[in-house]
Amino acid sequence: MISLSEAQEFVLSKVERKRAIATPIGKALGLVASGDVVSNINIPPFDNTAVDGFAVDSHALDLITRDGAVTLTVIGTVAAGDGVSREIPQGGTFRIMTGARTPSNTAAVVMVEDSAEVEGDKVRLEGSLASGSNIRRRGSDIGVGDVVVPEGTILNASHIGTLASIGLVRVPVFRRLRVGVLSTGDELKDGGEELMEGQIYDSNRYSLIAALSQSGVEVVDLGIIGDDADLIREALAKAANEFDAIATSGGVSVGDFDFTKAIVQELSLGNARWMQIAIRPAKPFAFGVLNGAAFFGLPGNPVSALVSFELLMKPALAKMAGKSRQMPQFIGAVAQYSYKRSIDGKTHYIRGVISINDDQMTVTPLPKQSSHNLNEMSQSNCLIEVPDSEGFEAGETVRVLLNSSVWM
Ligand code: AMP
Ligand code: MG
Repeated sequence: MISLSEAQEFVLSKVERKRAIATPIGKALGLVASGDVVSNINIPPFDNTAVDGFAVDSHALDLITRDGAVTLTVIGTVAAGDGVSREIPQGGTFRIMTGARTPSNTAAVVMVEDSAEVEGDKVRLEGSLASGSNIRRRGSDIGVGDVVVPEGTILNASHIGTLASIGLVRVPVFRRLRVGVLSTGDELKDGGEELMEGQIYDSNRYSLIAALSQSGVEVVDLGIIGDDADLIREALAKAANEFDAIATSGGVSVGDFDFTKAIVQELSLGNARWMQIAIRPAKPFAFGVLNGAAFFGLPGNPVSALVSFELLMKPALAKMAGKSRQMPQFIGAVAQYSYKRSIDGKTHYIRGVISINDDQMTVTPLPKQSSHNLNEMSQSNCLIEVPDSEGFEAGETVRVLLNSSVWM
């Protein structure tokens, strides 16, 4: 057996970041910026009002400050989008709508809530306002030459919005990865088909496609392949030409029909490695580069497949996607119950439920910890790392890896 970190380092050493392209901002969510994005314009492009109200000049503002109120003549209305350049005459005011360009000599904007209509075209304005109140200055969000998105940023909703705000159409990013997923096993059927004795429904393909989608890659479903060496070879050789990465599950253990690992060795021209990793679940794992595509042979047991994905495949995809943080991030949490295990040379990753109680992260291990207990895993929201030991006691701080879904 090799350590998890040795396996992770091996995989990371074999994969490379993909090339940079300019992609439409509407398709850039989750991708990594491949260079600094600099603004050519000021945002806002012009001084404008943050509220619906009345634009006043410095003279009127002085009177409000001195007397608590002033009565002015309403000259007209400025709407958002109105480009006319205006000036407030002494004794006058413009009614003005949020986002509208402020007249050139605006000292402040008094909110509608602080105004009262007087007879005719007069309005009484009150309140206590500093000079510049309720004015959003040109360039106060973004100035010409500002870096709005630094290289390496993983683009989220507010980044995409910021890029749109400066009128950008395409953003430089490392291109989205394309990943093919297939299941191997003679026992596997798809939902909708009838199960014969000895058969089960394929869950890994669906859970892996879901996990990959959450990781921001483009996923293609390559179906189920039986335990037939020729069919597996054909499917993998074809997939290696089409995808950046391939994930399979099953066929990497030590059973008589576990063909995947041998075929990967053959197709990778000997660079692949079949590993027995000192972890539980997810001990067996195969990795190789097939014709430029990263191949991940994940274990067949449903919990193992997902744990293997988190600990081994996701870091590699992160590197390929240009992310600077690649390794899973653990946090400390206080165990609410003890957990017993035996010493077996492996680090265990057990399913648990993390919660926040009295400002403290606490975690509870779930009762069913076998690698086929997928439903139990679905009740969990984290993996608890249990080093090779007799377990932990209630009150101890343990290392926890949150499911990405906890943040969503
Ligand atoms: P294997 O690694 O192929 O020996 O599979 C290990 C265990 O995982 C067996 O019980 C398989 O039936 C099960 N298994 C393999 N592939 C899948 C799958 N796609 N969905 C659900 N269970 C699977
Ligand atoms: Mg199998």
